[in-house]
Amino acid sequence: MAAGSNDQSVESPHESPEGSAEDPAGRIEALRAEIRHHNDRYYRQDAPEIPDVEYDMLVRELQRLEAEHPELVTDDSPTRTVGDAPSTAFAPVTHSVPMMSLDNAFDRDELAGWANRVARGLDLDSAAAPVGYTCELKIDGVACSLRYENGRLVQAATRGNGRVGEDITANVTGIAVIPNTLANKRSGKPPAVVEVRGEIYMPIATFEALNEAQTEAGLPRYANPRNTAAGSLRQKDPSITASRGLAFWAYQLGAVEGGPSLAAHSEALDWIAELGLPVNPERRKAATIDDVAAFADRWLEHRHDLDYEIDGAVVKVDGLTRQNALGSTAKAPRWAIAYKFPPEERTTKLKAIEVSIGRTGKATPFAVLEPVFVGGSTVQMATLHNDDQVRLKDVRPGDTVIVRKAGDVIPEVLGPVLSERPKGLRRWKFPTHCPACNTELVRPEDEAHTFCVNPVCPAQRHARISHFASRGGMDIEGLGESRVALFLEHGFIADPGDIYDLPWDDIAALDGFGQTSIDNLASAIEASKGRPLANLLVGLGIRHLGPTGAELLSSHFGHIDAIMAASVEEMAAVDGVGPTIAGSVAAYFATDEARALVEKFRAAEVNLTGPEASSEPQTLEGMAIVVTGSLEGFSRNGVADAIKARGGKSPGSVSKKTTALVVGNEPGASKLSRAEELDVPILDEAAFVALLDTGELPASS
Ligand code: NAD
Repeated sequence: MAAGSNDQSVESPHESPEGSAEDPAGRIEALRAEIRHHNDRYYRQDAPEIPDVEYDMLVRELQRLEAEHPELVTDDSPTRTVGDAPSTAFAPVTHSVPMMSLDNAFDRDELAGWANRVARGLDLDSAAAPVGYTCELKIDGVACSLRYENGRLVQAATRGNGRVGEDITANVTGIAVIPNTLANKRSGKPPAVVEVRGEIYMPIATFEALNEAQTEAGLPRYANPRNTAAGSLRQKDPSITASRGLAFWAYQLGAVEGGPSLAAHSEALDWIAELGLPVNPERRKAATIDDVAAFADRWLEHRHDLDYEIDGAVVKVDGLTRQNALGSTAKAPRWAIAYKFPPEERTTKLKAIEVSIGRTGKATPFAVLEPVFVGGSTVQMATLHNDDQVRLKDVRPGDTVIVRKAGDVIPEVLGPVLSERPKGLRRWKFPTHCPACNTELVRPEDEAHTFCVNPVCPAQRHARISHFASRGGMDIEGLGESRVALFLEHGFIADPGDIYDLPWDDIAALDGFGQTSIDNLASAIEASKGRPLANLLVGLGIRHLGPTGAELLSSHFGHIDAIMAASVEEMAAVDGVGPTIAGSVAAYFATDEARALVEKFRAAEVNLTGPEASSEPQTLEGMAIVVTGSLEGFSRNGVADAIKARGGKSPGSVSKKTTALVVGNEPGASKLSRAEELDVPILDEAAFVALLDTGELPASS
């Protein structure tokens, strides 16, 4: 299989582990075979067949049985070995210091159990005695060891089976954040040898952009950032790796010759950062295990604020003498533990596949699932994107499927577990007709999606009006999907313009509409009339037009009439708009329906005017200024307004294109470290105010 593929299924059905409570030896053998099979899929093919949580359950069961039957333990059991044998696709590299795995704790009790073992191992009186830990994030990527000799990167290797990994030097040199030459701020002279271990990962934004492109091209979507990072890294052609935007966080030293004397792991991390390697800023020292738990709880809550995936926290005893005293098992150090977060991928039954019709008529297949708790909530529906994706994944009603839900991202079906497919399941076929209005569905040539092209399709109407009233559009509180459905059903509305001319007496006669809820809805509708023109444009649901494009058009043309009168070329000439958006907006306003809708808005005195052209001098034209933390003299929106009024942009994250990062009180550590990494100038508030006036960066930044 091509590396980087996200195929989550197996070609031939794989037997489930057999054996029973009466036959522990048989059960142990079956579990070992099953785990080895999954190790091969995960480590060598970068294409796991089951979610991590199910793999972990198999390992746990094997561990329990081996503990109950020590006579059945063997040295080659997966409970005692790391990863999997390296593949033959790359030259082997023998690690001078083994690359180990980590033991896991799945809850507080297990974490406390580990702390007790550490305390006992160190002859401390109780687990509450201050051991001194370092807490880090557990980055969900691929382990990699970088070897520098006299300051130059000479070798990069995967973990493999912990003793022998794969030589991926050519691939790693294409990863921008990994330096080829070390900085040596401390002594001026690089150490003779330093091995730095860390995790190569794919940033979430990069992963999402890659998947967007796959979907549009009718190619299989990638399953998750970890497998995609692993597949991208282990490519035969290093230029493919280089094109994938991988990144790296260092977390450990391997062999060192000629380095400074270090007493603690936290000191080692600081030194690695001094050498110019990226070390995750979200690390903390913790005195007690309660502090450790507080760190983990905080990150469990905030894991999706990061632009990379984590699957837990890693806790390490900080003192290196103490680490040595504790030592390691065959598989993992005793001085560290991975505190795992709840899973974001699980399996469940696919009951049916249905198709929903969106506001543009797009027909999206979605999975109706046996409810499953995943990624922090119960999921009953998950997207399947389009016809191609259903076919490529070959998911069939009746299958057991892997469902992924990470953060705010819409839950997605990754693929079937083929080994659990019942016999005789039929392939699902995309419907030929709209499930709402029975019009024949159309898939335009060169399009990845299928559409209902009936402009009066009730499902489209419902989606359009709901979208118009939603937060990104006119933000009408109290007009959610069910009320829109009710009003459509009673014929009170047929398009978004009718919201401003509702038959209130008829509504009052409906169940559930007392005077208070009517008053609230009426005033929410009234308030929406004053929303910025950009919200109205977004609310219309014009294909390709998002909030940024809508803002650009509304501030450039200043009035909806001017936008309607503009040619495609005039709109495309607006910086940041381009021909796709311009073509789509022009086509939209060329229809009689759209023009009639605008007249309804005009009659209802909905705001159709854009923001006034700025009277400020355009000092920041072409600049992108990112702000982190709070400033004394500006509100959060005020800062962005001040930048935009002067012709600048104010994006939410730091990239190579960022002109400067403005740092206020309590700044976000990841923006700061990213700016340092990319050499983006960092400004305080005074320098920012000067920049607003002059458009010039301070000489020292
Ligand atoms: P692990 O991933 O649970 O933990 C060890 C690894 O964590 C280290 O090798 C390192 O790569 C990584 N890590 C990330 N951040 C770190 C940090 N700050 N400090 C130290 N290490 C850090 O263990 P493993 O042995 O690599 O793999 C086992 C896990 O892999 C399983 O628990 C499962 O989640 C997954 N797996 C899944 C399947 C499957 O079929 N789904 C198969 C095999 C393994």
